[in-house]
Amino acid sequence: MIYDPFVNTLLEWYPHNKRELPWRNTKNPYIIWLSEIILQQTRVAQGLPYFEKFLENFPKVEDLANASEETVLRLWQGLGYYSRARNLHHCAKIIRDNYGGAFPDSYQSLLQLKGVGTYTAAAIASFAYDEPVAVVDGNVFRVLARYFGIATDIAGNQGKKEFESLANKLIPKDRPAEFNQAIMEFGALQCVPKNPDCNQCLMKSGCFAFKNDLVDSLPVKIKKLKIKERYFRYAFIICEGDVVVRQRKEGDIWHGLHDFPIQELPEQSESQDEMVLLEDLGDFMTTSVSKTVKWYKHILTHQRIFANFVTVIVKIENKNALQVWAKQKGFQLISLEKLEELGKPRLIVKFLDDQKLSLN
Ligand code: SF4
Repeated sequence: MIYDPFVNTLLEWYPHNKRELPWRNTKNPYIIWLSEIILQQTRVAQGLPYFEKFLENFPKVEDLANASEETVLRLWQGLGYYSRARNLHHCAKIIRDNYGGAFPDSYQSLLQLKGVGTYTAAAIASFAYDEPVAVVDGNVFRVLARYFGIATDIAGNQGKKEFESLANKLIPKDRPAEFNQAIMEFGALQCVPKNPDCNQCLMKSGCFAFKNDLVDSLPVKIKKLKIKERYFRYAFIICEGDVVVRQRKEGDIWHGLHDFPIQELPEQSESQDEMVLLEDLGDFMTTSVSKTVKWYKHILTHQRIFANFVTVIVKIENKNALQVWAKQKGFQLISLEKLEELGKPRLIVKFLDDQKLSLN
């Protein structure tokens, strides 16, 4: 059979460089499955003693299925991600009860098992049953992206499909298990994430990244920004043309800009009860308290801000008292004209515009 030069080199490299690991050189799907589940998000050195412990306590899938959850979790202790242990146990029971203790023997049927995704199904199907289906994990993404010069984002669905399709084209139908083991081992030992020793690499003459000085840039992984939603309730406290403002502090958005006394809410609540600040104002005579129905929305790179405003009109004989109160709270009482000169978040400007109070 004629292989792609990439496959030839890989299969040549593997037997001389592979680590001797207890789950290699077996066709037993239970042992392969156990090792794959234990090694998810876990380094080999950390996972190895757990694998040995599990196999010693549960030599067959039925032994694992018959164990109590407490025993399984105790053996798992220290490995983290306990849902993996629960899924492992649950899946063992399904294999005992629905499959007569024998693992399903194809990629598609393995995918039906709880906790078995495309990667684990491909690993079991190829290692145990020699089904030519490629495993694509982080190591495989990296090796393929660098060698073939693929800049598609590996975090996206399109990238996953593209890499899976390439790996499935490359996998030799007569040596699928060896190919899968080899490419993962090559990524783990030779084509490592940081500073791979390319000068000593057998692949270098055909490697796109090496020849084009792109080793550090491939693979491409675009981190999705996690957008946080925040809900602000502002108190717009005005007294004879003056307004209570505060300058925003360091360590949060809009540092140094001016807005109003604020209460951050856990959700988009309509209730005014949370406005603790307003209780203080009870000492002053207020003529009206009204709340905007509208929620102002402001979008930042990492945050989505929703804000509404409670307007409080204060009537007071001695405005100094309000001034003192504001100072004690770390606010200022300033004129609307002065406020116009100060830097404000756009959301505040918009609110003031709506109130026809801003001169902007
Ligand atoms: S030459 Fe470098 S980047 Fe290319 S496959 Fe080898 S180790 Fe990876």
